[in-house]
Amino acid sequence: MNAFAGGAFRVAYSDDAALDYIARHRFDRPTLVLDRARVAAQYDALNEGLDGAHIHYAVKANPEPKIIRLLVERGSGFDAASRAEIELCLAQGARPEVISFGNTVKKPSDIAFAYGVGVTLFAADAEAELDKIAGHAPGARVYLRVIVESQLADWPLSRKFGCAPSALPALLDYAVSVGLTPVGLSFHVGSQTRQAQFWAPVLDQMSELWHAAQDAGHELSLLNIGGGFPAFYDQPIDAPRAYAAAVIAQVRARFGDVDVMAEPGRGMVAEAGHIAAEVLLVSRKSPDDLHRWVYLDIGKFSGLAETMDEAIRYRIDTPHDGGEVGPCVLAGPSCDSADVLYEKRPVQLPLALASGDRVVIRNCGAYTTTYASIGFNGFPPLDVIVL
Ligand SMILES: *Cc1c(COP(=O)(O)O)cnc(C)c1O
Repeated sequence: MNAFAGGAFRVAYSDDAALDYIARHRFDRPTLVLDRARVAAQYDALNEGLDGAHIHYAVKANPEPKIIRLLVERGSGFDAASRAEIELCLAQGARPEVISFGNTVKKPSDIAFAYGVGVTLFAADAEAELDKIAGHAPGARVYLRVIVESQLADWPLSRKFGCAPSALPALLDYAVSVGLTPVGLSFHVGSQTRQAQFWAPVLDQMSELWHAAQDAGHELSLLNIGGGFPAFYDQPIDAPRAYAAAVIAQVRARFGDVDVMAEPGRGMVAEAGHIAAEVLLVSRKSPDDLHRWVYLDIGKFSGLAETMDEAIRYRIDTPHDGGEVGPCVLAGPSCDSADVLYEKRPVQLPLALASGDRVVIRNCGAYTTTYASIGFNGFPPLDVIVL
């Protein structure tokens, strides 16, 4: 397989259609190649592992219409964050009953739109949001999102969403007082939670709140466990089915036979796509510098935003893999000094790497295409090909 400018890849990619496609084609700009069959397999594995919990795919992870359609056909529900995401799901054939409006910060006109098309389930974490929902989706079912403490995820979602646990009882009462139907609770364990056992402390906190709410007279029936299902980057993870099964076993042990909803985003699509990119320059800042600087034609502003704080560490294949390696600072092409991907922990890349070499950034199917700017500095946004 000698399709690469700088030399041949040494790995046979026949078992991965996206890698195979990249090896056989040339691209004039950074391109994400997504393999629908991998998404289907991932959905099936998660669905089996989740054992009756209903999947609501987090649309933001990758809103490619063909991916949404495939998931509709497999019976998935959807977690949407805006009117546009709801319209996308509907256009691809999703029934409104399986779309939840999971953003806790919604535009009133979006709430009215959702209600009008038949979406009946909404998230909230504040009184003012419940007021908005009551005003524009009267009587709707709501679940309340709670902040949970977890430092174990690779991409924690911090405290932006959710109410403090101590505020939950009053918020549940408030939802009832404005005519809404509070049906359950939600949380997010943090994106890229690599091990199922990391869920335990979070589920303990949630179960305490759940049972306290029941004792206060709220008949909760729905637990939304959010996302967090991991993808393979640079550290080992469990296979999706085993991981999902281990999570759901912990849920059942604490919550019994409630309705469970899961919102995998990254875990559904990340491993289904790889980015074809190109090396623009390899240089040293001085002749005796130990580190080389490697500049790619893709950076933080053209799709690789999740390298922020070097949180997500993508694996990079080059045509020289197997040769001697050395440490590199990896950077994007734009004239913004923030456009450095990995510097604190340099990347080991082959010494033979040179301008013009084609590289493959692995497992980039989640949180890339929609993070690409329109064309900062004139560099084109990430292109997408769906197989
Ligand atoms: C982003 C998001 C998800 C998906 O998270 P992953 O870690 O990618 O699985 C799920 N639920 C909500 C509410 C989200 O905002």
